[in-house]
Amino acid sequence: DQIAYNQDLTHKTILVGDSGVGKTSLLVQFDQGKFIPGSFSATVGIGFTNKVLTVDELKVKLQVRETHTNTHTLTLKGSRAGCSFQIWDTAGQERFRSVTHAYYRDAQALLLLYDITSRSSFDNTRAWLTEIHEYAQDNIVIMLLGNKSDMSNKRVIRREEGEKLAREYGVIFLETSAKTGSLCVVLFISLLMVLGSSF
Ligand code: GDP
Ligand code: MG
Repeated sequence: DQIAYNQDLTHKTILVGDSGVGKTSLLVQFDQGKFIPGSFSATVGIGFTNKVLTVDELKVKLQVRETHTNTHTLTLKGSRAGCSFQIWDTAGQERFRSVTHAYYRDAQALLLLYDITSRSSFDNTRAWLTEIHEYAQDNIVIMLLGNKSDMSNKRVIRREEGEKLAREYGVIFLETSAKTGSLCVVLFISLLMVLGSSF
C-alpha cells in the first residue's frame, strides 16, 4: 500500500499545569536524562541539544530549543522525512493564567501536570480541564500526570485521587518524577505511540 507522508506533518504536544509543578523539569529530564534542580525562569532557555531515540526500530531525533521568547519546543524528527514531534512548554505565563489560545491551537496531545505535594495544584487541574475543553481541539489526547512522585514523605495527593479524576474525565494517568526520571521515558514513548502512525 502506498502511504502518503505529509512532508510538513507536525505533531504538537503541549505541557500545562500550575507554575512549579515541574513541566520544564520533566522536559529537561526527558531530553538530557538528568534533573537540574531549581525553577527555570521565563528568560532562561534550556539550550539546544540533540539526541537519537529508537522507537520500534524507527530512529527519532530529538531537538530541544527555545523557539519564541515564551516557549520551549522539543522537536522529534521521525526517520521518515518531514515528520516532527514537538513538545511545547510555557515559560511562566501559567502564573498569570495567560496561556493563550494560540498555545492550544493545533495541539494533538496535552500533558496536564500537578504536583503530588500540592493540594492547590491538584484542585486547579479542574480549571485547567475546563480551559482545555474550551480551547483545545475535541480529539486531543490528554494525559494527567502526578509529578514529584519521589517526594513520598511530602505527598498530599494519593495516587487513587489522581486515578479517580482521570477516570472521571476519561484521560490517561501516570505518576512521574522529573527528579528520578521515573516513568519519564515510558511517558514520552507512550505519547509517540499514541500519536504514532506517521513515524
Ligand atoms: P514548572 O513551573 O512547571 O516548569 O516547574 P519547574 O520545572 O520549574 O519546577 C519547579 C520546582 O520543582 C523546581 O524547584 C524543580 O527542581 C522542582 N521539581 C520539578 N519536578 C520535580 C520532581 O519530580 N521531583 C522533585 N523532588 N522536585 C521537582
Ligand atoms: Mg517552566
